[in-house]
Amino acid sequence: MLGKTICAISTPYGKGGVAVIRISGEDALEIAKRVFIPRKSGELLPRVAYYGEIKRENDVIDDGILTYFKAPHSFTGEDVCEICSHGGLYVTRAVLETVLSAGAEMAEAGEFTKRAFINGRLTLSRAEAIGSVIDAKTDSQLRLSSSMARGTLSRRLNEIREKIIAILSRAYATIDYPDEDITDTGREEFEKTLDLVADALLKLKKSYRAGRAVAEGISCAIVGKPNAGKSSLYNLIAGKDLAIVTDIAGTTRDVIENTVELGGVTLRLADTAGIRETSDAVEKIGVDRAREKIDESELIFALFDSSEEATNEDYRLIDALLGRDVIAIINKVDKERKMPRELYEKIKSTFENCVEISANDVGAIDTLGSVLSRIYELGEINLSSDAVVASARQSSAICVAYERVISAREALFNGETPDIVCFSLEEALSSIDMIDGRETSEEIVNEIFSRFCVGK
Ligand code: GDP
Repeated sequence: MLGKTICAISTPYGKGGVAVIRISGEDALEIAKRVFIPRKSGELLPRVAYYGEIKRENDVIDDGILTYFKAPHSFTGEDVCEICSHGGLYVTRAVLETVLSAGAEMAEAGEFTKRAFINGRLTLSRAEAIGSVIDAKTDSQLRLSSSMARGTLSRRLNEIREKIIAILSRAYATIDYPDEDITDTGREEFEKTLDLVADALLKLKKSYRAGRAVAEGISCAIVGKPNAGKSSLYNLIAGKDLAIVTDIAGTTRDVIENTVELGGVTLRLADTAGIRETSDAVEKIGVDRAREKIDESELIFALFDSSEEATNEDYRLIDALLGRDVIAIINKVDKERKMPRELYEKIKSTFENCVEISANDVGAIDTLGSVLSRIYELGEINLSSDAVVASARQSSAICVAYERVISAREALFNGETPDIVCFSLEEALSSIDMIDGRETSEEIVNEIFSRFCVGK
């Protein structure tokens, strides 16, 4: 498969100032030379940008820049040529077709990055993170994925790996030369290293709570009776007027969704129609959808209007949310309070997380943000520099590795033979190795890269 020389448009589909057509593989330079005629004659040197003409048979179809990266010092680890043409839809397509006729084959989705991984230029978690940099929708997502793409997690995994390998090699020595049994000082050192490994894995395991909140995001629905201020809060968080705000109860008739960042957490936020009994057919559909949205949301922002008397709907909402992850929000604190003490106390005692805000005041964003950051444990993490676990695949591998290290620790403590300790540690090692692709199945690798776009 790696014998083929592949090409694709690496810039997004659309009209722009410039576009990049990337070619990778053994024949990259030969193919590029058939298409691109540099203004200055002579040998094409790596990492130098050459201005020239792009030719299709005898016609010049554009002018642009060619850069050649010689293997292994390129993104894919192979010879790579990048032709930078003008960014029109037609011209870009024409350059790509010319490159294809000159002998390259069309790249599959994510094939450049996959080659970088196969050629050892990137670990799997770094390759995955490049996809996340491209897909990032919030600043936190960008900081986290960019840090992972630079290898923060891979480096930490490597440190852990090396420690396990050091323990294993010593333990195997005692199996091979049983006369040299582990001395007491040796055993102490052994246990100390195992504890360090277990601590590091536990830290990574815990980091997934924050990592997931940033990378995958939390689905969150804003609920509350009509006029509680749901749309006002939604618009405040989203930073633009996306939901219709009126003082007529029942204005939001459908569910509106948007991805926003609050307190570093990526929220897939849904504004719902207020839940109330209604005879209006359209509003009723909205109310039903709101109920569904609540059921499928991981986190609920439950809004209560402090400027109104309590109604049955307030109590019904409290009951409906028992056992769910909720941030109770007592809204309209800028107005005179009419909410009875009893309801206020009930909200406060039922929900662990409760804030009092005015959805008309931007300060509410910080108030809610700090609660979210605390709930998802983002306070202790520096997204730009700490090793963070950011996907379910990585998290389950870390959990297995952690359990196996704990088993090894117990086996050692119980005075089991070294081969039993080694067995658990080998399992821990292969679980860690799945994260960065040393032991990942081809199927999983293909699945990961198929999520990329063509050209990446
Ligand atoms: P929804 O039906 O729950 O979506 O409520 P809206 O966001 O449409 O708000 C209903 C009314 O309450 C509108 O007139 C808002 O301007 C007003 N409102 C919302 N939040 C506040 C607040 O914190 N303070 C004040 N004074 N008015 C608010």
